[in-house]
Amino acid sequence: MNERVNKIVIVGGGTAGWMAAASLARFFDGKPSHIVLIESEQIGTVGVGEATIPGIRAFNLSLGIDEIDFIRKTNATFKLGIEFRNWYQNNTTFFHPFAAYGLPLHGVEFHHYIARMRAAGETVDIADYSFPIQLARRGHFAQPHEKPPTPLADYGYAYHFDAALYASYLRDYAMARGVVRIEGKIASVKLHPDDGFIESVIMDNNAEIAGQLFIDCSGFRGLLIEEALHTGYDDWRCWLPCDRAVAVQSQLTGEPTPYTRTTAHEAGWQWRIPLQHRTGNGYVYASRFISDEQARQTLLTHLDGEPIKQPRQFDFVTGRRKKIWNKNCFALGLASGFLEPLESTSISLIQTGISKLLQFFPDVSFNAHDMAEVNRLHHHEFERIRDFLILHYKATTRSDTAFWRFCQEMPVPDSLAHKMQVYESRGHLVMYDPEAFEKESWVTMYMGFHRYAERYDERADNINLDELKNQLAKMRQMIQIAADQAMRHGDFIARHCAAE
Ligand code: FAD
Repeated sequence: MNERVNKIVIVGGGTAGWMAAASLARFFDGKPSHIVLIESEQIGTVGVGEATIPGIRAFNLSLGIDEIDFIRKTNATFKLGIEFRNWYQNNTTFFHPFAAYGLPLHGVEFHHYIARMRAAGETVDIADYSFPIQLARRGHFAQPHEKPPTPLADYGYAYHFDAALYASYLRDYAMARGVVRIEGKIASVKLHPDDGFIESVIMDNNAEIAGQLFIDCSGFRGLLIEEALHTGYDDWRCWLPCDRAVAVQSQLTGEPTPYTRTTAHEAGWQWRIPLQHRTGNGYVYASRFISDEQARQTLLTHLDGEPIKQPRQFDFVTGRRKKIWNKNCFALGLASGFLEPLESTSISLIQTGISKLLQFFPDVSFNAHDMAEVNRLHHHEFERIRDFLILHYKATTRSDTAFWRFCQEMPVPDSLAHKMQVYESRGHLVMYDPEAFEKESWVTMYMGFHRYAERYDERADNINLDELKNQLAKMRQMIQIAADQAMRHGDFIARHCAAE
């Protein structure tokens, strides 16, 4: 068996770099290794990226991180999902929870019963069958039981946290386990003349840092994966037209909500991420449809509290690096591609990227088939999330601005068109296994955008209508009682995990 790689150079100390460093320190767990992380305070980090999806909990758990300690030290709050305002039409709202709706009856998925009730002329709101939505609407929070007594109480949650504090939390973790941090700027990258593998990086003080495996966490530029190895990039702006963002932190007003809010504006959407000590805000927009100054003004006039700092602008190209693993370079975070933060997927993609690296951890031969498989999985994952995000734009019925008219009319990838057509024909949810967003998330979007299928699963007729109404009423009642009884989110934090 070939010798396992154990000299690793991580380039970049943002969320991606320190997540990788912490995971690798844990992976080697005292076995011989030399892990170096290079970061430059002068260049800094992107400094945004504060809303997550539930997988983050498994990541922290895999490192053995204590949840309460982590929340206290990163000023985190709990996230039950995302509230979408003004997406379907102005003055409308729906909520995307991390949970399924209702209970499947007689093996038929719940949303078919909602369709049946509608067909019978009944007024029915799928949100009444989601415990986390009802918690969120009340500003309440409860942690799910490990073994919930009913599937109605089975849901996930994530966090909002301070990105800089999370990176420094992981930095302390990684350095305590032997990761060496080097402060300074990389000036150039040295490639092996025969095979083009990376030999070393040269710092601007001429120090040379060599390694066997290089992890590129250098942000959008992709210092190693792109600038040195010219891997290439797939540009997806034809489907996801937003290409800029302006972000600003503001004072917290009132209790932090246990959810992220995203509000559609004239040429994009605004995020609102409440932490324990402040709120993060940003407007993601399409520069073809609105000027930077208009976007900045829109953001500033839609803040709950006073801005704390000057707004910062970001330019990005939505898309994916053609390979995340090229030769002896593995790209993570923004260096591997970028999907706009509408569903908070970037940190989760760092996490799944790290899992792939650990699962296919290389020996010195760098097996080409392993690398091809990692790249195939990466492509699949990015494309499935891409399609889910495109649906948010495509499904709108807003036609009040050129941007929203463009979104309604734009063509979509065949993979998404097929899903939408099958759903619209019979309410069936096509899943290309595996997907980051499961069936319930697709149901949320279709229902949130008032997209109802022409037919429902005929087996949903096998239950008598009165009996169905009775079952639904029981579910609603159980959820409402439990949601009423839960604690306010602010009280929950104050009691269990207030920031230090
Ligand atoms: P960065 O934070 O940019 O770090 C790059 C690192 O590389 C820095 O340490 C820098 O110093 C170093 N570096 C670069 N060049 C050199 C050099 N020459 N020498 C030495 N060091 C160098 N994700 C989410 O999951 N949820 C969100 O809500 C979310 N919101 C976002 C909003 C916006 C507007 C944007 C743009 C992104 C958002 N993201 C979000 C994505 C998230 O911010 C990133 O995935 C995450 O912060 C990881 O960034 P990174 O570590 O890859 O890059």
